[in-house]
Amino acid sequence: MKIETSGVLIALHPFNERDCVARIFTPDCGVLVGMMRGAAVARKNRPMIGQYGNLSWGARLDSQLGVFHWEAEKNLTAQIIMNPRALLCMNTAFEILQNLLPEREAYPILYSETLGLLNNLSVGDVNAYLKWEIILLRELGYALDLSSCAGCGAVNDLAYISPRTGRAVCIACGAPYADKLYKLPINLGVTGRFLESVCVAQGGQMPPMRKMLKID
Ligand SMILES: [Zn+2]
Repeated sequence: MKIETSGVLIALHPFNERDCVARIFTPDCGVLVGMMRGAAVARKNRPMIGQYGNLSWGARLDSQLGVFHWEAEKNLTAQIIMNPRALLCMNTAFEILQNLLPEREAYPILYSETLGLLNNLSVGDVNAYLKWEIILLRELGYALDLSSCAGCGAVNDLAYISPRTGRAVCIACGAPYADKLYKLPINLGVTGRFLESVCVAQGGQMPPMRKMLKID
């Protein structure tokens, strides 16, 4: 099996003294995992997280760890690494993608939103991270609906969001259950609690880096 496409390098872990296991997020095949031979010792063109480039990925058997050939085209992180908070947002997003997305399942919207996030982080817009995480939740099947109250349909005085349905609840409808509902507005605290449910549902844990992102 062979795949040729483009993508963003989101993870690189040493495998042995010479080689690394890489994860590349692609528009058409989702996350691909494979070996990058010589990636740990390359003197020039060393692969780096946050590069955008062209790749070929091949595996003799479907179940095998594939092997990448990677040609970086540009580095999307040059501005991001100058800004510690933007860098934390990028690394957290990459950590979440590698932990939560199944291999070789396409998420084209999330892919283009991730490129958009990197663009925004490059100009210091760290609030873009929250928007990205809301889209991530939606793409994973946990859409948050803040358009109207789940109880009475009101569009004003929305004060809570239901942990169970992800839908908004107004002050009046929510009052009897206030201790069981999350408070609006949506912030990293609220999305973090939904994200944690997703991680637990998948039998995993919240990626440690995500816990370092402060609630605004
Ligand atoms: Zn209501």
